[in-house]
Amino acid sequence: AVLLEVKDLTAVVAESGQKILNGVNLTIREGEIHAIMGKNGSGKSTFSKVLVGHPDYEVTGGSVVFKGKNLLDMEPEERSHAGLFMSFQSPVEIPGVSNMDFLRMASNAQREKLGLKDRGPLEFYGFLSPKLSALNMDPKFLDRNVNEGFSGGEKKRNEILQLAVLEADLAILDEIDSGLDVDALQDVAKAVNGLLTSKNSVLMITHYQRLLDYIRPGFVHIMEDGNVVKTGDVSLAKQLEKEGYKAITSA
Ligand code: ADP
Ligand code: MG
Ligand code: MG
Repeated sequence: AVLLEVKDLTAVVAESGQKILNGVNLTIREGEIHAIMGKNGSGKSTFSKVLVGHPDYEVTGGSVVFKGKNLLDMEPEERSHAGLFMSFQSPVEIPGVSNMDFLRMASNAQREKLGLKDRGPLEFYGFLSPKLSALNMDPKFLDRNVNEGFSGGEKKRNEILQLAVLEADLAILDEIDSGLDVDALQDVAKAVNGLLTSKNSVLMITHYQRLLDYIRPGFVHIMEDGNVVKTGDVSLAKQLEKEGYKAITSA
């Protein structure tokens, strides 16, 4: 079934009215892995932020349907509760809040919306524990404040842990490969792959083909000037690496 359908989406910077997205079209079905590649400044992060309802941007046209509902009508929090998850290019630190509390709060807020009972600390730990080991993460990690003093790799793994806890239907991962060495990248990729089922989907955003060696997308989209200008399979990423954006987008 179709999970996300984006049609002719246009958006501007709310403050200045500057046009950033110029008619994006993209369809993601259950269980699919998609990648968006594109030069710096092509609009990749803006696209993902518009999907999660970031207040810096205003949608000026087009439509986005997520799980059969009009996503653009929903508040950012509702979007997340509906099963849309986004990892940020620069995750924020939350001083004074332990990772454990943060994850449990996020999970319980979501459960409440779904009419499910809150999990207490012990029950939550039971739920979390196997996810931690799958991610190769030290339980000590849970006592630390959210993202405070985390290394780049720890931040990324923490986001994947958030994703695992929220059991999102669509995960948007914006440059989860940025700043990671190959070992950390493999860990993160393994974690993402471990979360994939025939029901949930991933939209990865990256500059580099390297990530796609570890998380294999079925679809690769090239973004240019706020538009998806080309879609192909993983060979498109290989071609991109060899020939560069110019050769591909002008062809
Ligand atoms: P990418 O993620 O592909 O590198 P972005 O979506 O971050 O690109 O940015 C696309 C373009 O929109 C860039 O030219 C960027 O400077 C501009 N832009 C994005 N967000 C804002 C904003 N909040 N204010 C002003 N310009 C912005
Ligand atoms: Mg960028
Ligand atoms: Mg970006």
